[in-house]
Amino acid sequence: MKFATKVIHAGLEPDPSTGAIMTPIYQTSTYVQEAPGQHKGYEYARTQNPTRRALEKNLAALENGTDAICFGSGLAAQDAVLKLLKTGEEILSVNDLYGGSYRQMVRVFGVWGLRSRFINMTHAHTVAEAIGPQTRMIWIETPTNPMLNIVDIEAVCTIARQRGVLTVVDNTFASPYLQNPLDLGADIVLHSATKYLGGHSDAVLGCLVVRDAALAEQLHFIQNASGAIPGPMDCFLILRGIKTLHLRMQRACENAEAIAHFLKRHPKVSQVYWPGFPDHPNHAIARRQMRHFGAMISFDLKENSFEAARQVLSRTRLFSLAESLGGVESLIGHPASMTHASIPREERLKVGLTDSLIRLSVGVEDVEDLIADLEAAL
Ligand SMILES: *Cc1c(COP(=O)(O)O)cnc(C)c1O
Repeated sequence: MKFATKVIHAGLEPDPSTGAIMTPIYQTSTYVQEAPGQHKGYEYARTQNPTRRALEKNLAALENGTDAICFGSGLAAQDAVLKLLKTGEEILSVNDLYGGSYRQMVRVFGVWGLRSRFINMTHAHTVAEAIGPQTRMIWIETPTNPMLNIVDIEAVCTIARQRGVLTVVDNTFASPYLQNPLDLGADIVLHSATKYLGGHSDAVLGCLVVRDAALAEQLHFIQNASGAIPGPMDCFLILRGIKTLHLRMQRACENAEAIAHFLKRHPKVSQVYWPGFPDHPNHAIARRQMRHFGAMISFDLKENSFEAARQVLSRTRLFSLAESLGGVESLIGHPASMTHASIPREERLKVGLTDSLIRLSVGVEDVEDLIADLEAAL
């Protein structure tokens, strides 16, 4: 099955009891058993839910995995992954990752004695050099947030595999439409389905996709034992959103390309971060591992101050000032005070995340209207 067919059909079948073409929202906490231990595969809804299972099967197909495990949020999915590790072990992570991922690694698991080290992964050899005796996991986010750096997934996963280190790729920014990390050697793919997969800014959900049966079993165990499951209504909303993922992504990427070029020509803009530019330092890798360059753009202003950014952020009309990304509607954000406020300022500046950096999540509106909105705000 090709991608556009998978989003609509993979893992889904008409409801066996009624023929309903859409997967029903099984809003139930338990299932009646005919006799003790005699049931239809469903005992209690933390452990199994048919709406969630349909979504998991669909997600496994989209990422070319064999199984998926869904959680109440992207960070709940990350929480389950980190529970694969033990005190004293170490995660090697990209240095400009999602602020909430950083916060959980450092301030929740760090307190338990799990070590996290953050490095620049844009050159795979630095990863090889950084792996230490306690390194058990490599955490990749690509494109990175908000600097839009690209990590060579295949090169890093090859190094990790040789050293017996597990690799996790947070594929939220690319979505499975643009990039499939399992095909490039990753062990676990993580999504905040809240973003592109859902695509309509109306549900929060996270998922993991794997190929290895033993790893799937461990993660299902943690899902059930820790209990951070999504509700069936949210599973239904994400399933519905996924059906148009390919159409939304295609349009959003085309819009982003036009906007990136517009910003690059603009006299008030000093820098535009978008991996589709041939002079982007990791353009060649992006071209190789992604099908398009994504719909996230960051840019910096010549007038390098929070006040300059504040003015632009408060003047757009179509771009809504909000956290999050990946919806049909375009959003504008200020990483330093919003998504990345939990990262210390010195750490932010080291990776180019200045006080005037602005991030766009380009939606699927008419691109001429979007450009006019930015033009007016600038
Ligand atoms: C939003 C996001 C997360 C966290 O997901 P939630 O669903 O908000 O918990 C993780 N990684 C990336 C890249 C994100 O954008």
